[in-house]
Amino acid sequence: MSAVPDGKKLVRSPSGLRMVPENGAFNSPFSLDEPQWVPDGECPRCMQCDTKFDFIHRKHHCRRCGRCFCDKCCCKKVALPRMCFVDPVRQCADCSTVSQREMEFYDKQLKVLMGGGTFLVTPGTSEKSETMTCRLSNNHRYLFLDGDSHFEVELSRISSMQVLAEGSSPGDNDIHTYTSLLESQFISEGSTSRASGMLLQYKPPGSQDSQQLRMEAAEDKKVAASWFAAMHKAARLLYESRDQ
Ligand SMILES: [Zn+2]
Ligand SMILES: [Zn+2]
Repeated sequence: MSAVPDGKKLVRSPSGLRMVPENGAFNSPFSLDEPQWVPDGECPRCMQCDTKFDFIHRKHHCRRCGRCFCDKCCCKKVALPRMCFVDPVRQCADCSTVSQREMEFYDKQLKVLMGGGTFLVTPGTSEKSETMTCRLSNNHRYLFLDGDSHFEVELSRISSMQVLAEGSSPGDNDIHTYTSLLESQFISEGSTSRASGMLLQYKPPGSQDSQQLRMEAAEDKKVAASWFAAMHKAARLLYESRDQ
């Protein structure tokens, strides 16, 4: 068996082996809880193709949604890092599509975020900017900003995020409006227009008032643009899970 990193432990669930933080308070904000399985007695037929379960047609639970399917409709084993499974797990067609899409986030964007970049950071509404490096912490919970000063922003405390395109100005703060705008404009890879900045609203611990943080590309515009795009994808995952 492979080594278990510090601060993590292996747990066995009916769905498979999971590697989770020893302290649940350190769960990644991208993590999802395992679903309740639909009880055997409540699903006599496949919930996709309606095949009746019997001795030959056995039922399987999708590890992502917990619904019951025949082997044919739930045959794909796909990685599911959001539920911390060590190995790929059985998923229905709909869920495996979503999980495969999320794998791109884990393979690419998450690494970009943890790699970090150098930005021109303007806290609050001040006019004074500071050049800082910013990266996502190893447990994915914080943005660490380091320059002459240091501070951190907890991802779960970000209430809205706007990504600024070259030439655009901040307008509507609503994440959903923003998401659709981004998708059409410049998130697609190979697109020529670029993210040049980001405006965050967040609530520091113990405060009821939102703080604003503006980040703009400093040195390497290309690195900054992919970091902003990755951050935007991260926000979408977070907001989708909050909406559920
Ligand atoms: Zn089926
Ligand atoms: Zn499913």
